Amino acid sequence: MNTLDYHGLARMFEGAAASVLEKQDYLSRLDSVGGDGDHGTTMARAMGKVLHAVKSHESQKIATLLQEIGWAVMGVDGGAIGPLLGMMFISMAESAEGLDVLDGEALACAFEAGLAGVHAQTKAQPGDKTLLDALIPAVEALSASARAGESIAAALYCAAEAAEAGAEFTKTLQARFGRARNIGEQSIGSADPGATSIALIFKGFMKGITDHA
Ligand SMILES: [Mg+2]
Repeated sequence: MNTLDYHGLARMFEGAAASVLEKQDYLSRLDSVGGDGDHGTTMARAMGKVLHAVKSHESQKIATLLQEIGWAVMGVDGGAIGPLLGMMFISMAESAEGLDVLDGEALACAFEAGLAGVHAQTKAQPGDKTLLDALIPAVEALSASARAGESIAAALYCAAEAAEAGAEFTKTLQARFGRARNIGEQSIGSADPGATSIALIFKGFMKGITDHA
């Protein structure tokens, strides 16, 4: 499979929602280390919005589905994750505007635009123990694979692996951003909840494609 169509994109998001919802309690436990323990329920609400957008969407257009998902997730309160993910998907929509299918290059461009949208929303830097520590390697791996001519499924696999490694790496980091910063060195040893959610989302993107391939 060398292009992603509307239905493939919809399956990617259904996969992401399933992947996150399965780990909702784990995400809240991670957040209880340095935060207020609500990350799992916040992400569950965000993924509920995603599923609703996918099921109710009628345009069959990639950009408008991404935009609808983005705006729905943007409005989810409970920390920064809703606005950050929302901006990511809206930025992806802008990149995919007018396209009926995404080839590898277009997919890479869309995810790079999504990452740029996240960067514009936060002052966090790589290594601060945030979702960026999973998102940056995921997008880099996806782009490298897609531009090397690998299939969409292979690119998403590479992204999922890189996101998981990035989330795992956050265990070694001390939080330097957000509420978890307050616990200092005690944040070392457990993964960042946002980075873990990114890993789950990319794993779900990959499964959403490959389970139906
Ligand atoms: Mg929280």
